[in-house]
Amino acid sequence: MPSFVITEKCDGCKAQDKTACQYICPNDLMVLNRDLMKAYNQEPDQCWECYNCVKICPQQAIEVRAYQDFAPLGGNVIPMRGSDSIMWTIKFRNGSLKRFKFPIRLTPEGHLGDDPYKGLPEPDFSKLKGPGFFNKEARTE
Ligand code: SF4
Ligand code: SF4
Repeated sequence: MPSFVITEKCDGCKAQDKTACQYICPNDLMVLNRDLMKAYNQEPDQCWECYNCVKICPQQAIEVRAYQDFAPLGGNVIPMRGSDSIMWTIKFRNGSLKRFKFPIRLTPEGHLGDDPYKGLPEPDFSKLKGPGFFNKEARTE
């Protein structure tokens, strides 16, 4: 299920040095045709279907499409990023829609934000082989 660029929507990220989809792809699959100013997945077989490019594209120009042999064409999954949430629109083959909204991290791109363990107790290594998480008590208080 590789990513697929809808060329009518892609504007090549307005000729910046690197497009958003090139920046985000963990497998360096996206390339920009500078003559056409359209991006494409240069190696679809290597796509991890991680949806990063789908989420970051400012033009909603990328879809991850299922192979027709096990998922008939017609459905799709479209993200809409907001400032504090992302809305996923699931379009089924029969035309029905479902939408799911999730909060997102508010830290800038490329920034890990605060220490995720801030305020939590130090791990107790004597319990390393036991079940559970070192911060379980703190998180469930
Ligand atoms: S992020 Fe979207 S608009 Fe930008 S080059 Fe990639 S497909 Fe085109
Ligand atoms: S879905 Fe992930 S691996 Fe595939 S092209 Fe997009 S960013 Fe790269």
